[in-house]
Amino acid sequence: MIKEFCEELPKVELHAHINGSVSENTIEKLLSRKQKSDHQYSFKKGSTATLNECFEKFRLIHQLTDDTDSVYQVTYDVIHEFHEDNVKYLELRSTPREVPKTGMTRELYVEAVLRAISKCEAENLDIVVKLLLSIDRRNGISVGHETVKLAQKFQASDGERVVGVDLSGDPNVGDGRDFIPVLKEARDSGLRLSLHLCEVPALQETMDLLCLPPDRIGHGTCLHPEARGRQEFVDTVINHKTPLELCLTSNLIGQTVPDLDNHQFRFWYEKQHPCIICTDDKGVFSTSLSEEYQLAASTFDLQPSDLWRLSLSSIDSAFCDEQSKEKLREKWKLCKPQIEKRFNLKLESSGYQTQKSI
Ligand SMILES: [Zn+2]
Repeated sequence: MIKEFCEELPKVELHAHINGSVSENTIEKLLSRKQKSDHQYSFKKGSTATLNECFEKFRLIHQLTDDTDSVYQVTYDVIHEFHEDNVKYLELRSTPREVPKTGMTRELYVEAVLRAISKCEAENLDIVVKLLLSIDRRNGISVGHETVKLAQKFQASDGERVVGVDLSGDPNVGDGRDFIPVLKEARDSGLRLSLHLCEVPALQETMDLLCLPPDRIGHGTCLHPEARGRQEFVDTVINHKTPLELCLTSNLIGQTVPDLDNHQFRFWYEKQHPCIICTDDKGVFSTSLSEEYQLAASTFDLQPSDLWRLSLSSIDSAFCDEQSKEKLREKWKLCKPQIEKRFNLKLESSGYQTQKSI
């Protein structure tokens, strides 16, 4: 029953990298279009159980998305897949990429993504899609600066689709503090900040980045003392009420947590801190947002009402305007009686989370 409930539940996805979200169907589509179908890759679901298999898949997707047509195709497919999974609000993120041999510039890359979003809007899909441009810390400050300029340009010219900037990439590379001026520049022009933070213990950069403060934190795996973080990190996150984007399967396969029982979700959820269940890279990790909700339910003994509140309260942390949030809340309200009837239960909306210990 919980599987069907999670599928039926209207959901909010706030942490999804476009390339990592590419499904096996889309990979096959791109392979045949690029006539590389002799590639030695297995696409069976579940073939990405190990970190190495995931890296292989990332590498293949990277090779296949080297022109604007492919970028358009993957974005279009990813939006449709989230829509089929009953995601009503989706924030995609991606690093604008240039590939001289195909003539793709960073700007053309972003244009292709936005074109796919517009196409889905024209199809009247019941899903609102926004975009964050990612600054990959491996690419250095000047590319980071260029990314912010691009985000500002599209923020001004393309309605309200580009809503923020993300800091991502290998957390072991470079010092996140170097990007603070670039991130401040983004924020000063009204872009929101979501930062991959403390995925590995990083005492030096964490405090300074936390004090920006970001509008949301991706993972935050090692913030708390039990995970080699510090109490002052926890206090700062709580004081700023900075929501956390939490991705169970990604962290498990990525081996940033020893097991799900020790996932940081438990720590923050018990504190009734805003937690948003997200997929990170649904394609590479062979998951879906429904499956992530199911996993949270089974690992932390969450009841349907808890899951309902988690999905509903995720709207609060979205980077869209207040009017759009109200429309989303209305959507949740409208579908609630149907879900209650179908699963023969009463969903408690009031109170952020239950007081029971998980
Ligand atoms: Zn991520």
